[in-house]
Amino acid sequence: MVMDKHQLSKVLEELSDHRGRNTELVSLYIPPEYDIRKIINFLNSEQSEAQNIKSKNTRKNVISALEKMERRLKNAGEIPDNGIALFSGNVSEQEGRPDIQMWEVEPHEPIESRRYKCDKEFLLEPLEDLLIDKEVYGMICIDKSEAAIGYVRGNHLTVEHTLESQVPGKTTKGGQSQQRFERIRENLYDTFLNQVADKAKQAFLQKARDDELLGLIVGGPGFSKEDLTEKDYLPKELLEKLLTTIGTNYSGEEGLKELLNKAEDVIQESEAIREKQKVNQFLVNLKKENGKSVFGLEDVAKALQMGAVDTLLFSEDFEKKEARFECPECGKEEVKHISDFEAENESHSCEECGANMDLEEKKDVVEMFQKKASQMDSSVMIISRQHEEGERLWNMGGVAAILRYRIR
Ligand SMILES: [Zn+2]
Repeated sequence: MVMDKHQLSKVLEELSDHRGRNTELVSLYIPPEYDIRKIINFLNSEQSEAQNIKSKNTRKNVISALEKMERRLKNAGEIPDNGIALFSGNVSEQEGRPDIQMWEVEPHEPIESRRYKCDKEFLLEPLEDLLIDKEVYGMICIDKSEAAIGYVRGNHLTVEHTLESQVPGKTTKGGQSQQRFERIRENLYDTFLNQVADKAKQAFLQKARDDELLGLIVGGPGFSKEDLTEKDYLPKELLEKLLTTIGTNYSGEEGLKELLNKAEDVIQESEAIREKQKVNQFLVNLKKENGKSVFGLEDVAKALQMGAVDTLLFSEDFEKKEARFECPECGKEEVKHISDFEAENESHSCEECGANMDLEEKKDVVEMFQKKASQMDSSVMIISRQHEEGERLWNMGGVAAILRYRIR
């Protein structure tokens, strides 16, 4: 059964809690359309390999885990549409009394590559990546001869499709043959615009429906960008996302890069609008006292841990660390959220005995929270201070959250 993002994040949380006593937790990722016999043979050879493991318990546990996987794949007979990830191993807390469990995950998006790992913890990154925000800007660069379709995520441009048209260049023969030639030309042009629209639908329609398409930008040297966006080629759902059309010197893939450069301001403007909307939503909740907004590190951390956060908001200048101190005299530990400078340069005295505490560990709060958010399927937004709303968030401590439901 295919899991949605929420189910996936729950399983990931469960799996991340398991630690093997030894390297005996097996993770296996199989992409779609992979030859299942190959994988079964591979699991067989890994079982022979495992005979060499020195510790008797570990050896038995690893072999049992591999056997479980092999049996599962033999029963399945084929790889599911999005591929499958299997996790198996001994999760018993008691030495010598093994409890070999297996989990299987059919994710909502395809598994990209085959991975295999036998370790003290499960390999979860490839699935965690599927929970990261998939929000993109769609881009189409088109003229009469060619088109390229791609999207921008962060600053990275991915080209999805390139197409060439069959439209011949203009001639000046004149007369009847000229008319016929023009008609053929028109038809070929119409076919080309339809092909581009089809590819654009393939690339963007599902994203638009999933609210992952932030905007669409269409560019190109001639009038094809207008023909594509002003006539009935693209569906309404995509046209609603159209931010602007931009003239470029190049078309195709080269034009797509040019378009990205020229669209920077438009994208920035659209980002700012989204940021302002989110901060305002947060502020409106506060004003209404409906319990669906929290701010400040401790409250946000608590809500995040509960899985209650819909959107996590950080000011772009927020840079606190979570620092763990330990007292060399009495062993007391303390966790503080402070700046890098305070962690490194200021002395922290022990509440119990007054000795100078040592800095044991220092983690970046934004990174920690982002990781947690991805496990909990919460989205994260970094808010610039270039607008009034951003400045307000900063003045409230620079970290806040909009909740899925009230928690108190
Ligand atoms: Zn102490």
